[in-house]
Amino acid sequence: MQSGVLHTPLVYLKGVGPNRAETLKTELGLETFGDLLQLYPNRYLDKTQYYKINQLKDSGADVQIVGKIVHLKTIEQKRGKRLEASFVDGTGEIKLVWFRSQKWIRENLKINEPYVVFGRINRYGGTFSMPHPEMELLKEHQAGLKIGMQPIYPSTEKLSAKGITNRAVSKMVQQLFLETKANFVETLSNGLIEEFKLMAKADALLNIHFPKSQESLAKAQFRLKFEELFFIQLQLLSKKAARKKKIKGLPFTEVGEKFNDFFKNHLPFELTNAQKRVIKEIRNDMGSSAQMNRLLQGDVGSGKTIVALMCMLLAIDNGFQACLMAPTEILAQQHYNGLKDLLGSMDLKIALLTGSTKRAERTFLHNQLENGNLNILVGTHAVLEDKVHFKNLGLAIIDEQHRFGVAQRSKLWHKNEIPPHILVMTATPIPRTLAMSLYGDLDISVIDELPPGRKSIKTVHRFDTNRLKVFGFIKDEIRKGRQIYIVYPLIQESEALDYKDLMDGYESITREFPTPDYQISIVHGQMKPQDKDYEMERFVKGETQIMVATTVIEVGVNVLNASVMIIESAERFGLSQLHQLRGRVGRGAEQSYCILMTSYKLSEDAKTRLETMCRTNDGFEIAEVDLKLRGPGDLMGTQQSGLLNLKIADIIKDNPILKSARYHANQILKNDPKLEKGENLPIRRAYAELVKDKAIWGYIS
Ligand code: ADP
Ligand code: MG
Repeated sequence: MQSGVLHTPLVYLKGVGPNRAETLKTELGLETFGDLLQLYPNRYLDKTQYYKINQLKDSGADVQIVGKIVHLKTIEQKRGKRLEASFVDGTGEIKLVWFRSQKWIRENLKINEPYVVFGRINRYGGTFSMPHPEMELLKEHQAGLKIGMQPIYPSTEKLSAKGITNRAVSKMVQQLFLETKANFVETLSNGLIEEFKLMAKADALLNIHFPKSQESLAKAQFRLKFEELFFIQLQLLSKKAARKKKIKGLPFTEVGEKFNDFFKNHLPFELTNAQKRVIKEIRNDMGSSAQMNRLLQGDVGSGKTIVALMCMLLAIDNGFQACLMAPTEILAQQHYNGLKDLLGSMDLKIALLTGSTKRAERTFLHNQLENGNLNILVGTHAVLEDKVHFKNLGLAIIDEQHRFGVAQRSKLWHKNEIPPHILVMTATPIPRTLAMSLYGDLDISVIDELPPGRKSIKTVHRFDTNRLKVFGFIKDEIRKGRQIYIVYPLIQESEALDYKDLMDGYESITREFPTPDYQISIVHGQMKPQDKDYEMERFVKGETQIMVATTVIEVGVNVLNASVMIIESAERFGLSQLHQLRGRVGRGAEQSYCILMTSYKLSEDAKTRLETMCRTNDGFEIAEVDLKLRGPGDLMGTQQSGLLNLKIADIIKDNPILKSARYHANQILKNDPKLEKGENLPIRRAYAELVKDKAIWGYIS
């Protein structure tokens, strides 16, 4: 019954007419009683405490004081007047100040009568003042209902403009509690409630909106955070379990001829332990009879390509084809070349399919794929086209996952009768904390070790005023035969200006590095793809020494001879982007450098980013800092998950709660996979409610 009430449109709540309902919907996305109930306050004004004036310490605190006005005067100031009252409580004096409604206040305030005032205090020298305090006569205050902690709700300019003030929202929530009699059903099992001494659901909701004390607020917050994280984990874990159980996969039981031949005769270097471990994990997955969905994380340069190849060989040994997709033509081409080199003389057919593959060749490829002559297809999105049929696709690998959407991934599933195993490779380091909550339904492998002998990239921060020195350094490096990247930011909101910066920069670089001594490539998003590829090719082949570019080169490009990455206006880049860009150098044997150029004007966050980049090369450490600075919502690739739309919990701050929620969700599913036991009934009901409109309920029921 209760869930029914929660679906009632807000327009039926007393005090909310059609206009207000519409405003609440457009401004805060609130449509139902349930939505309003889950509009949790951002903060609270603590009215449980009464301060003495001699206890006041800091500017900016919200305090409540009992005292009386002994004196009232109007003071002329530069613009207009202000009304100022001397307010005393026996321990000291503060000033109450009004800039607006002075006439009304002057006429209504009572001198020498005890008042309770509440407001934010400012300190000027030794005296405190409180502008526009809330005031109540002490005797009324004592007679009235006590509000312990006053909730402050999320708001927008439009909301307040339309009269939906904080007070109005608070009233609506009160009304909601009245109309529903605060009779909200429990959503967790007794076992969990007892184990964590959780507040009951209904109490928690009441106390999150109208806490009686700091302690009850803390208990309510804990309860609701736990619940929120628990149900997310339940969802992810049951999805994962369902996939394991239901989606039949191709069991690759053989480790056969090709894999062994490659391992014995063609491996160009010893695999790192991390690579070996990851290959084993993937092998186990593909050897079982369930379909693999695995995320392979490995920092730039950690050697994901060879892992991909060896997994493809496993597929081939079991009689299947494999494909590898990359987000851009350049990358697909590079993968194709790299894989061909690695395979050397091995008797395998590998081909490249991209948007620019010629018609005749394309037709030939399609045939080869369909009759099974082709073992490995490398390509771009072109691989996904409906015309592309495999004879028997057994493994699909996607490189640099964030450029591919979920929809495209699912297209791959249908390229074979029984869906192929899927391996998604990404160089975006996702902190474990986050990966666990985001990709709880994907299995994760991590290459957490770089191949031996890598020189770590030296990173420095230079101000624009030192540009001449930087140019000198570039010349030295070019003299040694190295190549240089110079990258400019390009951000949508400031696109026109950014292009101007890029072009101005390019011009000054061509002046500083004139032909014929120097050759310069330029690549940016407004160029035609063919022109881009042409410029890129010249740099890859070593015909140009400097590549001036926007962030289009961010992903995957592999030019071993490039040893210097210069990032202009580095303060405008996010940390993960800086790290990705830096990863373009340091791939060869030479010492590599990354130079972060900025002006003198730097925000605190920008300083932290630059300092972090100069301190460490470790992608995971950088990702953790990034997460702290930006919050999880912004991390690359996380938007599409939709899981981070959290109402109360914070994945980082509440990580311990997340861990125990995950642990218990796992336990419960283990003991009662379908949530059929009586004790789990509340969970089952709440879960059904949660996933009502989503297709995943089927996994549990
Ligand atoms: P990424 O993970 O960024 O895709 P790559 O697969 O392109 O990295 O590998 C980066 C470079 O490291 C390549 O030149 C590759 O040949 C080399 N490499 C990979 N694994 C090893 C290893 N175990 N020992 C030495 N070099 C390796
Ligand atoms: Mg790569």
